[in-house]
Amino acid sequence: MIRVIQGDITKQAVDAIVNAANTSLLGGGGVDGAIHRAAGPDLVFECRMLHGCKTGDAKITKGYRLPAEHVIHAVGPVWRGGSHGEPNLLASCYRRALEIAAENNLTSIAFPNISTGIYGYPKDKAADVAIATVNQFLEQPSTIQEVTFVCFDMENLTLYQDRIHASQ
Ligand code: ADP
Repeated sequence: MIRVIQGDITKQAVDAIVNAANTSLLGGGGVDGAIHRAAGPDLVFECRMLHGCKTGDAKITKGYRLPAEHVIHAVGPVWRGGSHGEPNLLASCYRRALEIAAENNLTSIAFPNISTGIYGYPKDKAADVAIATVNQFLEQPSTIQEVTFVCFDMENLTLYQDRIHASQ
């Protein structure tokens, strides 16, 4: 099942929230900063032991002070015009986050709109990739029962609602 809500991902009580991280995994601005602030300093301590993450990949930690049990740190691409593998890299980080959640027997996962902030990925194109990748993953049997897209801004909320409603 796919849900779309507007809100703050740090408030979501799900098995895992996904962080739009950077390759250092040591924190940053936007949703990354909000997640680290809400989780507390133990999160960056665990992240340091992971030695970074490649673009298009993801790594899991505990959620510490967050209501979510885990954080899956996914690294989306920086938008460089669209012909530098951005769609494949964005799809890959959504898919890797879902795979890691399933490997850990998690059932509920919430995503922010990865790469659509500081990384500059056009929101409509990112929504197409995110929804297609999640739909494709949910076609196979896995432990994942609920995927929530947590949209922070109205523009993303409308883009996701239009696409999800059109497909249901
Ligand atoms: P990126 O570097 O991947 O672009 P950003 O954090 O700049 O990451 O932005 C990714 C998306 O997360 C943007 O759409 C932004 O509006 C959204 N965002 C920022 N803060 C939060 C939050 N607390 N909860 C959910 N989404 C958020």
